[in-house]
Amino acid sequence: MSSITRRNLVISAATAGAALGLGGPIEFIGTAAAQKALGTDLKKSKSFKLGDLQVTTVYDGIWEKAHDANFIKGVSIDETKKALAAAKQTDAFVPITFTVTIVKRGNDYIMFDSGTGGQASPKAGELAANLKAAGIDRDRIKTIIVTHYHGDHIFGLMEKGTNAQVFLNAEIIVPAAEHKYWSDPAVLAKLPEARQGLAKRVQATLATWKNVRPFEGGKEVVKGIRPIPAHGHTPGHTAYLVTSGRNQLIVSADATNIPALFVRHPTWQAAFDQDADMAVASRKKLFDRAVADGVIVTGYHWGLPGAGRLKKDGSGYVYMPIA
Ligand SMILES: [Zn+2]
Repeated sequence: MSSITRRNLVISAATAGAALGLGGPIEFIGTAAAQKALGTDLKKSKSFKLGDLQVTTVYDGIWEKAHDANFIKGVSIDETKKALAAAKQTDAFVPITFTVTIVKRGNDYIMFDSGTGGQASPKAGELAANLKAAGIDRDRIKTIIVTHYHGDHIFGLMEKGTNAQVFLNAEIIVPAAEHKYWSDPAVLAKLPEARQGLAKRVQATLATWKNVRPFEGGKEVVKGIRPIPAHGHTPGHTAYLVTSGRNQLIVSADATNIPALFVRHPTWQAAFDQDADMAVASRKKLFDRAVADGVIVTGYHWGLPGAGRLKKDGSGYVYMPIA
């Protein structure tokens, strides 16, 4: 690897860390073995029916997160590797994928979060291409519902460099608690350095955009879609319940990160969770509800198909992806 490429990789890694709200040095690995472990036959989207609605999960890419002893509180790299291997995933790195949930009602598309915009990992930013391949015209996405303001969820709303809006004609619906937190100039003094860039970018973009609609409370944000507060990952992190007739779907966003680690071990606390104890409580509450109601759940970091049912298993849960 040339020194220039190497330098670019490290810079990109630092960007990814900041985007995901992580402090400390992070490096990507790019070995041939790791490439192979990703699977060359990875499909880029998955569609299924939910009553009258069509749900599509669309892949945006991956962050091959290097192992780091501080990633999961009190859990060693060896234990992390074992959990990945138990789920038949590569343990060469932590495979953090990005997958966006899109609901189609009639001719309208509603998208949850925006993908990374290619600004959170050198191996992510495929959303636009994969939407096209899935037959979804990006210009027809008129409603975007945001779960929280971490970069891997909102950078797809803004152009790299200029911060210009990508979805100028969409209404962007956001949890008021999340919006207020990151939009407040006073938050900068409270945040670790690694998260300050994110707050500054929110303040230069979403905080000033006219098509952003913050909502309070638990009422429907659009017809058939209701917020479920799931705070902890961030102060205003919100999941959503999508209903069509008797059918329900929970868009769980980052109530958990990758299933192999945090669905199986819901008390494991990732460095991404801002208030880790609250995040664990929110995760269990949301998952217990999903198990009790037998509903399909989508997860932003679950890879494809990115949707499935959960069942309780001892102290953890098992994720059963849809076929
Ligand atoms: Zn995330």
